[in-house]
Amino acid sequence: MTTAKTTILDNLDGSNVDKFKIILKNQKLAHAYCFHGKEGTGKKKLAFTLARFLHCKDKNNSLFKTECRCLPCIQIAKNQYPFVHILESSTTIKLEQVRSLLKSIIYKTDENNRTVIIINKAENLSLSASNSLLKFLEEPKTNIIIIFLTTNLEKILPTIRSRCQLIYFPKKDAKSEKPWNNFEKLLNFLPKDLPNLYSQEEFINLCKNIIITSKELVRDFKKAFCSLLLPWFKLELEEKRELILGYLFYLWFRDCLYEKIGCKDLACFNYFQAEKEALEKNLKEKELEKILAIIFQTINYLEAGQKAINCFEQMFISIKGVLNVKSSRGTL
Ligand SMILES: [Zn+2]
Repeated sequence: MTTAKTTILDNLDGSNVDKFKIILKNQKLAHAYCFHGKEGTGKKKLAFTLARFLHCKDKNNSLFKTECRCLPCIQIAKNQYPFVHILESSTTIKLEQVRSLLKSIIYKTDENNRTVIIINKAENLSLSASNSLLKFLEEPKTNIIIIFLTTNLEKILPTIRSRCQLIYFPKKDAKSEKPWNNFEKLLNFLPKDLPNLYSQEEFINLCKNIIITSKELVRDFKKAFCSLLLPWFKLELEEKRELILGYLFYLWFRDCLYEKIGCKDLACFNYFQAEKEALEKNLKEKELEKILAIIFQTINYLEAGQKAINCFEQMFISIKGVLNVKSSRGTL
């Protein structure tokens, strides 16, 4: 695995991403696009990535890192950036909504900033809303880019379609999804967009680190905590992986418990069987239950928005408590 800085576009895949890398390099963005394709094909993600690309302040990295903490990137992620607007509705997108959006843009736009308007579920635009956008498209302003996202191209007004560059988002083929099949059970327990966040190799490495760390925690808590855990954790948390880490720890110890009580069918880590058995043999059923309860509590704290490093420190200290009890009984 390369440790070179990845660009935000590198985190996405598919031919459309390659297409936009070339477009951006040549600074040839059109003023209107229509991204069409089934649900879950990455339309919205690419639209937001393009918006970030145009506004990120971290020019040194040009196409920059996964997580950027510059003000525009943070605000775009929260839908609070004045030059990036998203309009969406699960029912009808009404004329008034489009009007008030267009009004707010005219006041905020200046020459140095390209405003990006993303219309999600554009098939829900009412006829009058579509027509008001059409007027806008007929006199393109050079500093405004409008991106329609739709799962149903047929429902987009033909006059709008003809003024947009149409970009089709294909469903990922079975071939590209296949490697993840080995992790299918595990992925079912994790947040849905995981495969888009990691390469498979990166994900396996993450799992391996969880497993090595768990082993060391039981074997030599102090060493594991100071030399292994904290440095690795700081890196992971910078990448905002705290919830993934919490869940992976939970599922790994859960697997160990199921191994111990003879419910192997319920396991979700298909790999690492030898490591699982080794850990399971070192821990009693009651201890595994306590550790699981501790990790589960940690996940709750993380989901409630508590600071990740504190949550994990508390988690490891509590796990140490469980292991110390064991040590004083003389079974370690
Ligand atoms: Zn940025």
